[in-house]
Amino acid sequence: MGKRKLPWQYSNAQNMKCGVMVCVACGKTITDGDYRYREAYDDRGYHAHQHRECVPLDQQEYWSRQDESRKLHIAKMIEYREACKEFRDKWSTGALDEEIEELEGLSHDQ
Ligand SMILES: [Zn+2]
Repeated sequence: MGKRKLPWQYSNAQNMKCGVMVCVACGKTITDGDYRYREAYDDRGYHAHQHRECVPLDQQEYWSRQDESRKLHIAKMIEYREACKEFRDKWSTGALDEEIEELEGLSHDQ
């Protein structure tokens, strides 16, 4: 019986931890940030983890797509925020203040 490896899964240490989080590339524990992991089977079965930074550049497609859609989302939300401001300024609706305040944070938490 040879080794069998499943496709990589992508995750973030803030959202989810799984198994013993030691990077197979650098040997350090993954404590935060993006990482990928996959189940692999030899005699016992184990999880292999890798820091995002330790994954070769040519295998970063997933994260590139994530970064791209996050950028698009933020741009859209900023546009939305501006529309909310326009609405508030025109209609003097105090209820929108909270919403706008919340959206102000978007451009900072990159
Ligand atoms: Zn690493």
